[in-house]
Amino acid sequence: MTESLSIIQVALPVPLYRHFDYQSPQPLPPIGSRVFVPFGKQQLLGIVVGHTQESEFDCAKLKIISRQLDAESLFNPTLWKLLLWSADYYRHPLGEVLHHALPVLLRQGEPAERKPIPCWQLNNHTEITESKLKRAPRQLQALELLRDGPLLAAELREQGIDTPVLKQLAAKDLILPFDLHLQAREWLDHLLLHENDAPYLNTEQAAVLAAINHAHDQRPFLLEGVTGSGKTEVYLQLLRTVLMQGKQALVLVPEIGLTPQLLRRFRRRFHAPILTLHSGMNDRERLDTWLACKAGEAAILIGTRSAIFTPFKQLGLIIVDEEHDTSFKQQEGFRYHGRDLAIMRAQLEQVPIVLGSATPSLESLQNALQGRYHHLQMTQRAGGAKAAQQHLLDVKNLPLQAGIAPQLLQLMDEQLATGNQVMLFLNRRGYAPALLCHDCGWVAACPHCDAYYTWHQQDRRLHCHHCDHIRPVPTQCPECHSRNLVSSGVGTEQLAQFLEQRFPAYKTIRIDRDNTRRKGELESHLSAIRRHEYQILLGTQMLAKGHHFPDVTLVGILDVDGALFASDFRATERLAQLYVQVAGRAGRASKPGMVVLQSHHPEHLLLQDLLNNGYPHFARTCLQERQALSLPPFSYQAVLRADAPNREPVEHFMQRVAAICQHYGAPDLSLLGPLTPVMERRAGRHRMFFVLQCPQRMRLQHYLQQLLPAIDALTVHHSLRWHLDVDPQEIAG
Ligand code: ADP
Ligand code: ZN
Ligand code: ZN
Repeated sequence: MTESLSIIQVALPVPLYRHFDYQSPQPLPPIGSRVFVPFGKQQLLGIVVGHTQESEFDCAKLKIISRQLDAESLFNPTLWKLLLWSADYYRHPLGEVLHHALPVLLRQGEPAERKPIPCWQLNNHTEITESKLKRAPRQLQALELLRDGPLLAAELREQGIDTPVLKQLAAKDLILPFDLHLQAREWLDHLLLHENDAPYLNTEQAAVLAAINHAHDQRPFLLEGVTGSGKTEVYLQLLRTVLMQGKQALVLVPEIGLTPQLLRRFRRRFHAPILTLHSGMNDRERLDTWLACKAGEAAILIGTRSAIFTPFKQLGLIIVDEEHDTSFKQQEGFRYHGRDLAIMRAQLEQVPIVLGSATPSLESLQNALQGRYHHLQMTQRAGGAKAAQQHLLDVKNLPLQAGIAPQLLQLMDEQLATGNQVMLFLNRRGYAPALLCHDCGWVAACPHCDAYYTWHQQDRRLHCHHCDHIRPVPTQCPECHSRNLVSSGVGTEQLAQFLEQRFPAYKTIRIDRDNTRRKGELESHLSAIRRHEYQILLGTQMLAKGHHFPDVTLVGILDVDGALFASDFRATERLAQLYVQVAGRAGRASKPGMVVLQSHHPEHLLLQDLLNNGYPHFARTCLQERQALSLPPFSYQAVLRADAPNREPVEHFMQRVAAICQHYGAPDLSLLGPLTPVMERRAGRHRMFFVLQCPQRMRLQHYLQQLLPAIDALTVHHSLRWHLDVDPQEIAG
């Protein structure tokens, strides 16, 4: 009996819906701690999920753990509960969920020990004589940045300031190094002394703040406030209260919403340890940040979706900014929604949560309209800027140049001539969507996908945007050997080329995934724009998020029709969000902006509703449409996707899944499919999917719980892969 006491249950990072039993010497490693265990021929890092006295296997034959890594759990109790809950809700193997939640270095077995986080601050005792630094522009830049408050060495490096520059400044006694850990307490103690330039709240802001501070229940808050209505200011005031109580706060932002400008605004307000967590950081920085939050040394953490898995010593508030943003949903592996997990976490931690947006998702809006969330609204622009003028341009039969109508070109001429900037949106990267033969009509298609190549002229290559396959541009048509190869349609690259010819006096910059891949690249483009090095800004949707360019007075959305007639039922919602985002940011008080939308279907009802009645009205119309069609948020979906190099095993698998579902026979569960995506083959794999839909979330969960084990038990062709996506954001993708 004493021997059987030493069994632990371990979750391993394998795609299996079960845990594994091992023997362990006493005292047992605590639940939530890491162990190395033998697994087949390898050693795997696992997380202890249970202690037990019995195993379904012969206890004497259970293997013994190789090594215990932690003396205590890595997760606090609420975070642990959240992770167990999300593995269950998203039907994802617990071992993979727990691993996903850990910083990479901890997954690799690195000790959970803090290293110093190097920071720099101005030495206030030394007078800065700028003339001394005339010939050292980097040093001057560093001082300029540090004037707003201390910065991590890592953040200075992101701005192009390396250690030698800092060492030189330190040698002149102008700046001082310190370690975040040592300073944290002192920072927090002096919080109030350093609170700078907080404006008086206007009536709407004050009402919102009071509503949040005086709420008597745990319902989340949806803050629906037009762009510039002062939502961020409300966040800052809420954060102040939390910090004053000695608690910590988590602020989730979209992938590219975390800009140095935003960080500077927070840092300028609070002289407190404010840390960030985003994809541009290295593994060590991510671990140190994680540990600082766990130890209570970070006052505020601003991060993208995965920051939801950070442990806090004493969390007091969660804010999700731009809550509608699609980057909160993880689209591969563990397919969770960061906003939805944030709501669950707030409930478990019993802390308030504020979802903010000028264009709330229809899901959140519906929750607010039904009273499940507090609904707070702000309708006035705080900074006094005027809303942009809008122009719907009917481009039918107009002679377009690189996809731009003559009227828009003329408006561009006018705005550029007066020293303003112009921003154009086109959701198509590359030079042209396709390369085709003018003589026989042959189109260059990717051999691995049901898709055409995108022509990238700059590097003279054809690029498949679906599987990343790249090949050189052919010199002649493989069908008829004609050399008359031409492009069809316009991508950002070709548009940029056209703009350079049409507007030779002005510089154009492209912002899309092709030229923002490298770390820091996006940020350097954005600051060049702010310095007016470019006058014409051309981008895909990513340019719209969270950036404020006060001298952009004209915005053109070139291809509205693509979204109006897309197969995805969320495409119109996304277009409306893009439109409102750019319209809200164009111009400023002294320089009103203008937004031009080009469409072949200016009479489209939803488009008219958006332009005439604004997003709140449009969103409510959309909700009615969704309700009539029983689409989310009036129903709940899960998508089961499968793929394999050949179609046959996929079809066979889907038939058996259908049989399982039909045999189960739930009256309120509808099974749509099997369906094929618009692009059936991608990266050499045939794809099919089912949509499972149910009017109630809990019922859908109940069905999935019943069906998944049966599907998981099917023996499938070795080449077949399948996964489940609960609350999918893109169904066919
Ligand atoms: P949002 O987050 O809703 O887009 P912000 O909080 O960024 O809005 O506010 C927009 C602008 O208005 C900012 O320049 C901000 O400094 C300013 N602002 C916000 N609240 C006030 C206020 N109460 N008084 C004066 N200016 C304000
Ligand atoms: Zn040809
Ligand atoms: Zn391809």
